[in-house]
Amino acid sequence: MSLKLERKSFSFQLLKSLKTSKDLLKEKKGWLIKVSDSEGACGWGEIAPIDPDEMKRCDNILKTIATKTSRETLEKKTIMGPGSLSFGIGCALAELDNLIGINGEGKWLKSPLSAVLLPNNNSLLDQLDLYIENSIQKNEELTVKWKVAVEPHLVEQKLLEKILEKLPINSHLRIDANAGWGRREAQDWIQFLGQDPRLEWFEQPLAIEDIDGLVQLSKHAPIALDESLMIDPSLKDKWLSWQVRHPSLEGDPRALLQEFQNGKSFIAISTAFETGIGLRWIHHFAALQQKSPTPTAPGLAPGWCPKSSLFSNKPEVVWEAA
Ligand SMILES: [Mg+2]
Repeated sequence: MSLKLERKSFSFQLLKSLKTSKDLLKEKKGWLIKVSDSEGACGWGEIAPIDPDEMKRCDNILKTIATKTSRETLEKKTIMGPGSLSFGIGCALAELDNLIGINGEGKWLKSPLSAVLLPNNNSLLDQLDLYIENSIQKNEELTVKWKVAVEPHLVEQKLLEKILEKLPINSHLRIDANAGWGRREAQDWIQFLGQDPRLEWFEQPLAIEDIDGLVQLSKHAPIALDESLMIDPSLKDKWLSWQVRHPSLEGDPRALLQEFQNGKSFIAISTAFETGIGLRWIHHFAALQQKSPTPTAPGLAPGWCPKSSLFSNKPEVVWEAA
């Protein structure tokens, strides 16, 4: 089947820089795509890797796809990857096929309340106070995510004590080390925090490839995999505890739709800072997650992206704004 693929590049600055044990993310960029058929039906997608090498690979692959293309060519690209490219093209094809969307069977669903992400700077404790105040005022459950292994161990241990002093007993805490700890440090944190009822999970505490270490830790505290799943996607079928999934980076969204249809548990949905086009999918997955056997708050990092038409839930508006 002959199809038309149009693309447009976009970029935006995050309102706050995101510091992890490995990177500093200030800006997001990529391409929006629109795939249409001869009858004028269309689907939208977003290709926006975070890794600079993946960015180059996507650019090179996109240059090989002519505006006038075919279903076969695009399906082949979703199989070859990389993940962000498979996501963008898979999104557009799924929407074109009415697997999801306003004309489809799976209407776009709205996201449940998100977890909040603490900033890694001096404003951390003040920001936490604001989040706590807001959740009490609105009578909402508070889930807080904190990226650690950024400052020295002792500094973060002290901060943790302060966070625990402030955090209400019915709230939830996710600690994301982004693969930045060794086994010894991870054990220290587990010893200190492992039995606290507010701890939801430790996210990727150890190096991506240290699966043995991660299995050992998971006997003492809930351990969520994140980066390991990117490097070894077969872990999605093997890891029985939490999996933090970034739909817009991991690949064809039709595969994740299928996992939810199969009733899979312990998936948590996380943003990679999408435009409005990608966000429709992230919100939809977050809503499906809420109906799964293990509902939990998605990680949408509210307040980190600017407010503009680029984040509209109408794809035409996003396209115009890019
Ligand atoms: Mg993570």
